[in-house]
Amino acid sequence: MKNRSTVNAMASSIATGAIDSVTPTSPAVEHRTADSTNRNLYSSAEESIFAEDKARSDRPATLMLPNGLQVVMIPDHRAPVVTQMIWYKVGSADEPAGKSGLAHFLEHLMFKGTTKHQADEFSQTVLRVGGNQNAFTGRDYTSYFQHVPREQLGKMMEFEADRMTGLILKDRDVLSERDVVLEEYNMRVANRPDARLVEQMMAALYLNHPYGHPVIGWRQEIENLDREDALAFYKRFYAPNNAILIIAGDVKVSEVRPMVERNFGGIPPQPSIPAERLRPQEPTPAAPRTVTLADPRVEQPALRRLYLVPSARTATAGESPALEVLCKLMGGGINSYLYRALVIDRRLAISAWTRYSATAIDLSQFEISATPKPGVELGQLDCAIDETVADIAHNSPQAEDFERVKTQLIAQAIYAHDNLEELATWYGGGLTTGLSIDDVRGWSDSIRAVRAEQVLEASRKWLDKKRSVTGYLTKATSKHTEKRS
Ligand SMILES: [Zn+2]
Repeated sequence: MKNRSTVNAMASSIATGAIDSVTPTSPAVEHRTADSTNRNLYSSAEESIFAEDKARSDRPATLMLPNGLQVVMIPDHRAPVVTQMIWYKVGSADEPAGKSGLAHFLEHLMFKGTTKHQADEFSQTVLRVGGNQNAFTGRDYTSYFQHVPREQLGKMMEFEADRMTGLILKDRDVLSERDVVLEEYNMRVANRPDARLVEQMMAALYLNHPYGHPVIGWRQEIENLDREDALAFYKRFYAPNNAILIIAGDVKVSEVRPMVERNFGGIPPQPSIPAERLRPQEPTPAAPRTVTLADPRVEQPALRRLYLVPSARTATAGESPALEVLCKLMGGGINSYLYRALVIDRRLAISAWTRYSATAIDLSQFEISATPKPGVELGQLDCAIDETVADIAHNSPQAEDFERVKTQLIAQAIYAHDNLEELATWYGGGLTTGLSIDDVRGWSDSIRAVRAEQVLEASRKWLDKKRSVTGYLTKATSKHTEKRS
């Protein structure tokens, strides 16, 4: 619905082109599982934990309803509040051809009311009880959450279960909301050259996979989305056997279980939900690509590069944690190698950073970004980045840098436990992209286990220029022009 706006979330959303829609702000979850959508993800032994309340640091309690709804409970009794998040295993990469933006459009329409509740009644109730709420769409998931006083959980769950199947859409509401989304498109993409560059780069990076489509959609396709499209998509994907419910906060497992059964238990599963989410895959990349976006509104030229790399799900054992460490070592702050090389030593840039998204069902991205100093050509910066990448790939990191970076990553994961929403997002993002609870919980251990050779190997294997798209953002001197080669 409306966007969240933490700095991390924004960086992440811009970087991946997920516009309104925000990807998890927590450190990306790690490790891989064999099967992304196996509904027997939780064994019966795990289910038995549900019978007792566990301390916050323990394994979350889990439950699977007979209709396929996965429930994850994270008790935390430090404050009398609770976060309810429902994650649907559907995102922009699941949209039918020609209907880009549909997952995000439906996310907006989910606030339009049901047979039982008027439009915006849910939102108004959240506000009235002093809570807050939001929703976001990514390439692999759509999520809705409310953060409320603990005694309001039953009411929140009633609303959320009701709109899983009870949505009513009127043409009038659908058309006005489409205008809202088009306005959002203008604000977040059309009027922002940096976001447009990322949109173009993602399309060039993914030659075959639907990750190349922007989450918000291509404008001419958003313009044609209608009520029938939204309802068909809703009926196909919104069902208990395609959802994960996460409850984090000051509640007892013994209270939540009957509440979940009462509200969601009667909703029938959708038999058409596929066991696996299969999308067209990428061919082996054969050529580096360059995209130049020139716009008169650009005040600050910039260079970005995206490499096609494994996600936590598609990586072989240890590879995704090695990419996490590589990312932090290379561009995580002023002590990072890229920053030192470009900003401090060679004085070509005023900033430099990297980003790796592990949370994806299919192949993901590793990003390098730099802002040139005035007077420095982007081509010059591009060459310097190539040299730095080659340097990192052939020289073992300093032991102290290597340990520092691992400690920072692990600390970040520990801090995520201090924020209910972040913790729930961490689990939701992992579970909807094919990881298990143990994968998510074991993230810190997997980082701890990374060896320097693995980092070198990951950089040599994946930061291969043939796997990349480099984007130049430049100021157009004449009228608005764009070139893509
Ligand atoms: Zn939106």
